[in-house]
Amino acid sequence: MSELLPGGVRYSILGGARSGLAVARLLVERGATVFLSDSAPPEKMAPAAAALEAIGVAYEFGVNSHRVLDADTVVVSPGVPSDVPLVQEALAMGIGVVSELEVAGWFCPAPVVAITGTNGKTTTTALTGRMFSDARMSSAVAGNIGTAFSEVVGTLSGDAVVVLEVSSFQLDYIRSFRPKVAAILNITPDHLDRYQHSFGNYIAAKERVFMNQGTGDVLIYNADDEVTRMAVTRDVVAAVKLLPFSIRQPLERGAFLSGGVLTVATGGKRHDIIRSDAISIPGEHNLANAMAASLAAIVMGVPPASIRATLKNFKGVEHRLEFVRELDGIAYVNDSKATNVDSVWYALRAFDRPLVVLMGGRDKGNDYGRLREPVQENVRAVVAIGESADKVRAAFAPVVPVEPAATMSEAVSAARRLARPGDIVLLSPACASFDWFENYEHRGKVFKEVVMSLKSRT
Ligand code: ADP
Repeated sequence: MSELLPGGVRYSILGGARSGLAVARLLVERGATVFLSDSAPPEKMAPAAAALEAIGVAYEFGVNSHRVLDADTVVVSPGVPSDVPLVQEALAMGIGVVSELEVAGWFCPAPVVAITGTNGKTTTTALTGRMFSDARMSSAVAGNIGTAFSEVVGTLSGDAVVVLEVSSFQLDYIRSFRPKVAAILNITPDHLDRYQHSFGNYIAAKERVFMNQGTGDVLIYNADDEVTRMAVTRDVVAAVKLLPFSIRQPLERGAFLSGGVLTVATGGKRHDIIRSDAISIPGEHNLANAMAASLAAIVMGVPPASIRATLKNFKGVEHRLEFVRELDGIAYVNDSKATNVDSVWYALRAFDRPLVVLMGGRDKGNDYGRLREPVQENVRAVVAIGESADKVRAAFAPVVPVEPAATMSEAVSAARRLARPGDIVLLSPACASFDWFENYEHRGKVFKEVVMSLKSRT
């Protein structure tokens, strides 16, 4: 096999969205013969068709035919379920099956910081990337966060750093992908539909982020999360340097709080980074994210003073506990990206003002029991939205007033009526958005538009 193309010369790519097109381009540039297949109807794929024709890649849309199997390696996009028959057939025939992350990794001259976990990936990836750019280090941010890894590898030099947001789906099909620094933020049940409904399978997928790590590599992990801690201590090889973080207890090595100060201890040195109340992104979960990002930055040589400045200035990512406006003494916060119970649990604990929460949407089998206690403690009222409104009402009506709403506009009006000056109206749905909206970004945008159109009563 050619050293330049570890997967052979002929590639079939399953999936023609952003990362599929990017990896097609990358492989063609490196001399491969590429065929792309996407089962979406041709009329939806017109822009992809034009892009592929421009680089001489053959394609089929509307089907995944057996032509895909006429290849040395099949590259699967993250959106393609692993039980697709063609993928199983490829595996049975001994054809290599890899993800876009794996392919881009073959051509990446720069060290990689790979960030994974159930929640907090985008926030931590963006924050870490900001730490490098604020320190004027040559860097790129890519992966799940938006720009495909394949799009940036060609632009990187060996002395740059690339920060990647890595999903479990991308990790499912890696072979040699080896990040210099890996971080696991937390592992809680999510996406189980893609893992034969087995939490164990999902944990195993996350663990793959460190499976190729060895001497000189670093693994950052959440020591407060039992599942993550167990997985790491059980399966990592001894040569990998472990840097845990904890918001609950001081540690000998890693990141922790010392007298209210985020402190990093590594390589025999201790750095006081910043008082936790001076970090601008709110909530305990964001303190954990800040610890993970600070560790990655310190390991890669960012000066502590620069990390401090970034943590003071970084305002977070859109749709993640995003402050929208304050009107008549009520603050409005958009957390549309909270699509599972765990992220809502943190959101409910992130503020010291009473909350009126908009919750509901397309339910993925949620158990709301875990939210009862923080709802009882911090929530004045719930507005139940979307398909799962009845389930939300049944879960919380025993502890707080719950009002149903049939549109986002109705929901915001109801929340405003239920809130008192000093409260926060928080959209944190715990559900997917596909019942009323195209995606969580659309849901967040509509919420913000409605909120921005409100007129002051004074
Ligand atoms: P991801 O990319 O992993 O989905 P995001 O940064 O987009 O993570 O955040 C998703 C949701 O989870 C948001 O509602 C956010 O407030 C919440 N969140 C962020 N970090 C954490 C964390 N460490 N633990 C739990 N929830 C978190």
